[in-house]
Amino acid sequence: MSNFNPFLCCVVPAHNEAENLKNFIPALSKMLKQENIRFEIIVIDDGSKDSTIEVLQGMQKDYPLRVLEFSRNFGKEAALYAGLDHVDADLALLIDADFQHPINVIPTMLSLWKEGYEMVYGIRNRETESWLKKLFTHIYYKILNASSTLNIPENAGDFRLLDAKVVHAIRDLPERNLYMKGLYAWVGFKSIGILFTEKERQCGRSSFNFKSLLNLAISGLTAFSDLPLRICIYLGILLGIFSFSYGCWITVQTLFEGAKVPGWATLAAGLAFLGAIQLIFIGILGEYISRIYSEVKARPKYIIAAEHSKNRQAVPETESKS
Ligand code: UDP
Ligand code: MG
Repeated sequence: MSNFNPFLCCVVPAHNEAENLKNFIPALSKMLKQENIRFEIIVIDDGSKDSTIEVLQGMQKDYPLRVLEFSRNFGKEAALYAGLDHVDADLALLIDADFQHPINVIPTMLSLWKEGYEMVYGIRNRETESWLKKLFTHIYYKILNASSTLNIPENAGDFRLLDAKVVHAIRDLPERNLYMKGLYAWVGFKSIGILFTEKERQCGRSSFNFKSLLNLAISGLTAFSDLPLRICIYLGILLGIFSFSYGCWITVQTLFEGAKVPGWATLAAGLAFLGAIQLIFIGILGEYISRIYSEVKARPKYIIAAEHSKNRQAVPETESKS
């Protein structure tokens, strides 16, 4: 291992990150040069509306930079996946373009990889976040892990160093519903987490709001667990037993005491409750069916409109990967 000089490929998803990238690419390159490691950077332009592409093309003469330009915005998970699909290296580093993943943690990640860890993931220190967000996140991970056979580490995100073996394992997964945190855990391998404090975004705004985070959370749950479906069954059985017993009780009561007019309130409340439960369960079923539907359609996870590399600058090329 001592004479072996590994080749590192950095995968950077970018959506409207022109301002950040101007500083980020030089800062990342400087850090990696100091580490004396051979490297290249793949930036995935995920349907940016700003000058991300122009900024990157301008930097290609100074830095070992490849740019994959998506035909539209496919989302961060698809961008990461596209990056991994194009990695041709001994190891890959997944890192955000907005400086929130501190580049000074990279040397520690590299030394852990050299020690034999095949996946080194950053664990976000959530000290500065509100207690409510921390509580929700904690409960979510507890449910997710309790309901699947996986152990998805809490607060571990996409800031990670992956050995080529892990990259290939993830690339070989056929599914189109991408929940990267689940996929990293699913493939396994010798992994270790290191704590880091997330910095403030240097420029621009986060693309994730409450709704997109909720959607991602639901994707995670339905892609890696069938607990929601099982809850439907258990609750259905429970309600069935309850309503059957209640029906018996009413029959007996009517037989002994005669029919009473009152009772419509109980009936109305019961019906409304059951209606609500049914709607929720139909929603859960629909969630799984829509996932099956998108897998069956077998559309590509992303479409690359053009690939800009150092040697083949700005040669348009249409490519679709699955
Ligand atoms: N990103 C992307 N596609 C998107 C949204 C985000 O490639 O549709 C990139 C973004 O440019 C950044 C990273 O994913 O490099 C993290 O996004 P962001 O900072 O908006 O999310 P947060 O840090 O708030 O989770
Ligand atoms: Mg960010």
